[in-house]
Amino acid sequence: MIRFDMDGCRYYRFENLPADQVDHAVFTRLGGASVGAYSALNLGGTVGDNPEAVVENHQRLFEVFGRPYESRFDVWQVHGTTLVYSDRPRPRDQKHQPADGIFTDNPELTLIMRFADCVPLVFYDPVKRVVGLVHAGWQGTVQNIGGLAVDYMRQRFGSDPASLFAGIGPSICGSCYQVGEEVRARFLQAFGADALDFFAERDGALYLDLWLANAFCLRKAGVVQVEQSGLCTAEHLDEWYSYRKEKGITGRFAVVIGLKHDEH
Ligand SMILES: [Zn+2]
Repeated sequence: MIRFDMDGCRYYRFENLPADQVDHAVFTRLGGASVGAYSALNLGGTVGDNPEAVVENHQRLFEVFGRPYESRFDVWQVHGTTLVYSDRPRPRDQKHQPADGIFTDNPELTLIMRFADCVPLVFYDPVKRVVGLVHAGWQGTVQNIGGLAVDYMRQRFGSDPASLFAGIGPSICGSCYQVGEEVRARFLQAFGADALDFFAERDGALYLDLWLANAFCLRKAGVVQVEQSGLCTAEHLDEWYSYRKEKGITGRFAVVIGLKHDEH
């Protein structure tokens, strides 16, 4: 990914996501108004942080990102597989709907999701002009949410998986993400022997590589262009929130994407 620093905030962009067609950023935790465990750019409204700081952080993020705060569309991320389309922003007084994937073909919208170890999947179809974000923790991953997202784009927008861009964003890596035997059992049930590659054993402990598992799901669904951020949240607490490493008391960083207006 490519790193940018602006007005005290730091964000990253996928190298293969065309900057002339898509506004996109993975914001680090730097540059916000939150303090303590939530320092500083926490976007999570239900994690115990001061609500006023969270609102200020949202506004600051959109200022730095260069798109209107009112353009945002977000959902309540629940570790399921519900994927939703929207062609209008979420009004301030409207509750979040539960979902773990959001898509739009409207350049007036900015999609935003929140993360702290779970895998952000970023989608762009340059042909049909569609963007999407997916939240893939182990529960979404074992249910193949990446593959379901590709199927959704194919059915809803006529996307050809071969022309899609997919990015696997900053999240907990396979060396840091220790899981229980029951998690491996679920993956073996879902993916068969292919899932054995997602796991490693070290010193009697079991580790799951969510990056590998998600790349597998995306490629199986026909996506050719998959970019790995290779950035581990648990190893870089100076830049990222890590639910696992910080034992649950932490904030959420934001991934944002929106289509630029077509100039043709
Ligand atoms: Zn790691």
